[in-house]
Amino acid sequence: MNLKDVGEFGFIEGFARKYDHLINESDSGIGDDCAILSINETENHVVTADLLIEDVHFLKDKITAKELGHKALAVNLSDIAAMGAKALYSFLSIGIPPNTPMEYLEEFMESYYQLSNKYQCPLMGGDTTKSVDKLVINVTVVGRVLKIDTHLRSMAENGDLVCVTGNLGDSAGGLKVLLENLEQNPDNMNLVKYHHMPEPQLHEAQFLAPYSGVHAMMDISDGIASDLKHILKASGKSANIHLDKIPCSDLLKDVSAKYDWDLYDLISAGGEDYQLLFTVKQDTFKAINDAFMNQFGKPIYSIGEILDGKEEIQWLENGKPYNKQGNGFDHFK
Ligand code: ADP
Ligand code: MG
Repeated sequence: MNLKDVGEFGFIEGFARKYDHLINESDSGIGDDCAILSINETENHVVTADLLIEDVHFLKDKITAKELGHKALAVNLSDIAAMGAKALYSFLSIGIPPNTPMEYLEEFMESYYQLSNKYQCPLMGGDTTKSVDKLVINVTVVGRVLKIDTHLRSMAENGDLVCVTGNLGDSAGGLKVLLENLEQNPDNMNLVKYHHMPEPQLHEAQFLAPYSGVHAMMDISDGIASDLKHILKASGKSANIHLDKIPCSDLLKDVSAKYDWDLYDLISAGGEDYQLLFTVKQDTFKAINDAFMNQFGKPIYSIGEILDGKEEIQWLENGKPYNKQGNGFDHFK
């Protein structure tokens, strides 16, 4: 059997539980967006690490150094947001081909700094090595969150509404623009911006985290078809998702119509939007949405319901079952 037979998550499951006996009861390891390291009675540290590899996560002739520096940190800050935490420190390890121009690296580091500064999260260390011919970037971020505000994937409850913080599919549309060489058109390039410069929902997550009606939370990196399954698996639940209620931009609708792309596939299985996916106790939704609207001038979107049952997503369109293809991203499947 090869890795591609078991997939990314099958591989991780194979070794994840082996460490349980070494982990303190108040901590938790593999399985959520971040590991949780208890600080004291009331607070946790949360830690995440994400790797970006040239030609796997980005194409060097399609993404600028500025965009790459932003994205490398942003995808990690997004995992900190997913826990409801504030980002404290980052660590950056890079393997760099020796012929890389210094201007490229300076632009990368300046952009990394700009995002660090925006969220008051200093770079505290890392490692720099030679790489034979591909750029490899690993970022680790440490955050901090009150224990009562820490949101796990396992916290979904029956009857919760499944919610997201913003449009889905733009990033996947941007990736299609790059892969299908459709960059000539400015509209198309606006989608690529979402793919290359995602905004971590840190402030939104910190705002939502203290509400007792907000239950499970994670960030959308692989597409909800895959990511929601993690919440369902961790919580022992199933869900209905209304495809027609998933927020998506007019831009994505227009570009999808132009090239005959499957819009439902992009918004449900397309990854890297880095919006939050979270569940909300039904009778608290209105108050939370009103407060969120007041704070950010944008709503949260209810796209489905958590139900009893095991890990199934029932896809609906206008309330009727919809036979959807596509399962979200897995590196090896
Ligand atoms: P995310 O998309 O939120 O970064 P992933 O889907 O990449 O999360 O990973 C799922 C879980 O598996 C996380 O808890 C992550 O820390 C853990 N994980 C992934 N790869 C490894 C690995 N090689 N060793 C240990 N833990 C891993
Ligand atoms: Mg995540």
